[in-house]
Amino acid sequence: MTCSESGVCPPYDEKPWRDACGVFGVYAPGEDVARQCYFALFALQHRGQESAGIAVADGDDVISQRGMGLAFAAFDEESLAHLKVDIGLAHVRYSTTGSNTIENAQPMQGMHSSGPFAVGHNGNLVNYSELKAELEAEGVEFDATSDTAIMVELIARSAADTLEDAVADAMTKMRGAYSIGVIGPDKLIGARDANGVRPLCVGRLNGTGKYVISSEDCAFYTVGAEYMREVEPGEIVVIDADGLREFQAIPMERKSVCIFEYIYFARPDSHMYGKSIYLCRQGMGRLLAQQDPTDADICAGVPESAIPHAIGYAQVAKIPYQEAFIKNRYIFRTFISPDQRLREQGVRLKLTPLRETLAGRRVVLIDDSVVRGTTTKQEIALMREAGAREIHLRISSPPIRYPCFYGVDTSAGRKELIAAQMDVPDICKHIGADSLTYLTLDNLVAATGLPKKYFCTACFDKRYPIKVPSDMKLSKFDLETDKVGQTD
Ligand code: SF4
Repeated sequence: MTCSESGVCPPYDEKPWRDACGVFGVYAPGEDVARQCYFALFALQHRGQESAGIAVADGDDVISQRGMGLAFAAFDEESLAHLKVDIGLAHVRYSTTGSNTIENAQPMQGMHSSGPFAVGHNGNLVNYSELKAELEAEGVEFDATSDTAIMVELIARSAADTLEDAVADAMTKMRGAYSIGVIGPDKLIGARDANGVRPLCVGRLNGTGKYVISSEDCAFYTVGAEYMREVEPGEIVVIDADGLREFQAIPMERKSVCIFEYIYFARPDSHMYGKSIYLCRQGMGRLLAQQDPTDADICAGVPESAIPHAIGYAQVAKIPYQEAFIKNRYIFRTFISPDQRLREQGVRLKLTPLRETLAGRRVVLIDDSVVRGTTTKQEIALMREAGAREIHLRISSPPIRYPCFYGVDTSAGRKELIAAQMDVPDICKHIGADSLTYLTLDNLVAATGLPKKYFCTACFDKRYPIKVPSDMKLSKFDLETDKVGQTD
């Protein structure tokens, strides 16, 4: 079933940069594991809305159920009722490698010499093509076209005795960004790439010896678990009847956590490396206000992602925080014709400007990031229609000038990035704002309270922490204008 057939697709005008996936695993004999997975899917739904899946293990076997669309469309009470098990793995997907088909939905199953297993993955392998060619040369045929299928095959073909060693074996061959959950009949495994680009953390369920892993700890609250720690770069955690243990599967390289998780991808109630995402976002707004003080009557955030940033800005600027838009939460892609003219009306369906707060006012509008600029331009036009006298756009991240190869869909390359094509004054003119400034990279990092060396910041500064092979798909624009930089 396609997205439009199901009628349960995500809002059509989410930011065009989307995180690839969310992973959740639970080892909890005696608990309602399938239902915990189901609830976790809702908590992680913001990380992927194309498909959802749950795999479960009962000591002997591993089975999975996958569906297209949002979690509530992929599963129902009846489909969960028969999943009475001890171990579960849940996954929500937004595709970056491989198309949006049921074959590419996760968790994906495989068979290792130690038994059946299933894998859920967040990230992107930069050596996908190379690994795929090698495996095909050995006679492997793939139904799925995603890099998760490569991982499944690498684990399945490992000569290691145990599933965790097979995962470690596969990690020596995989390059790129990956945070994965794996279940076998009697264990749950979590693993993170050598740079730790995508998030993965461990929690304890209800103070017991039962454990969970998740892309974000917002899912822990949903299932009654408490945060314990991050899975570190190159590390594997194994949870089974003996409890929790860990080992370093591959050497840790420079820690390169995606800074975009702090700006936009992660849910604001999540925490990463001890930092509250919500408070980091307020800090970005505060530093933006210090960096670029603006005389205005009200401060507003683009709903909903930029609201914490705007609250922080308003606090420091001492400008009253007001809502500029009311967001309609019930607009789905299925209601929107693919026709370009109607798509351009999309913002009107989703956002209604509040004439009562905007008319005659000078507004500082805060957004967390600008990718194409299309939506921003429409939002500013709507605010003008509602009578805003001045609109000063403040972006609480630097200009995005380079594509991401680590699990964010930037398939159009630099061509889709407005800051790769125009300088700031031209962007300001193009989107119709009275003024435009961006948070500096140093201030962005400062707002996280973590050192710069912890982060991947490549989409801002072209400092790619993991070498991008030349055969990765780059658009003609990328090749002609600014070769993607590579750092080892
Ligand atoms: S390039 Fe940007 S979006 Fe991609 S991992 Fe690095 S910081 Fe995150």
